[in-house]
Amino acid sequence: MSDARLLRDVEGQAGWDATVRQFGAALRGSLLSPGAPGYDAARRVWNGMIDRNPGLIAQCVDAADVQRAVDFARTHRLLVAVRGGGHHAAGTAVCDGGLMIDLSPMHGITVDATGRTASVEAGARWAASTPRLRRTAWPPPRERCPTPGWPD
Ligand SMILES: Cc1cc2nc3c(=O)[nH]c(=O)nc-3n(C[C@H](O)[C@H](O)[C@H](O)COP(=O)(O)OP(=O)(O)OC[C@H]3O[C@@H](n4cnc5c(N)ncnc54)[C@H](O)[C@@H]3O)c2cc1C
Repeated sequence: MSDARLLRDVEGQAGWDATVRQFGAALRGSLLSPGAPGYDAARRVWNGMIDRNPGLIAQCVDAADVQRAVDFARTHRLLVAVRGGGHHAAGTAVCDGGLMIDLSPMHGITVDATGRTASVEAGARWAASTPRLRRTAWPPPRERCPTPGWPD
């Protein structure tokens, strides 16, 4: 597997920059490169000891964005990390080089009319989700840690 820095060496800086611009234009969310406003905040996770620098961060806003990001990583053989709530102690939501697929903008919750089925997007965090879920047939427990996402 390669990462964004290695790929740049192969394609040449100009070619890579154009490829990245094209990818960024196709996303509905933001594509962040090192040094861009918001890049450092986006790569920060719960474990403050984790200090990794993705080659790119795709801040996905919907499933189509996630699909584009996965396709981009596959096409360019990039290392991938997926960020949900960013709460895993090992910091596996963020990689050095490669592409971080940041799902944190995807935090919508839909509860059906009966209150028996809820859909929670992959970037939703526990504390932000629970007030709405408390009105459902199966309210979540109150004592959970507030900041993890839902992949667990
Ligand atoms: C202090 C502390 C307290 C905790 N308390 C609790 C608790 O009360 N209850 C509990 O159940 N757990 C608890 N945990 C465990 C925590 O919930 C798990 O680490 C969980 O994985 C965090 O989810 P996240 O979305 O925030 O993780 P992230 O760090 O974003 O992701 C964790 C892993 O899952 C991958 N991933 C994330 N989203 C996706 C996706 N959509 N598709 C594929 N892969 C994905 C990431 O790449 C990463 O490898 C605690 C952990 C800590 C450190």
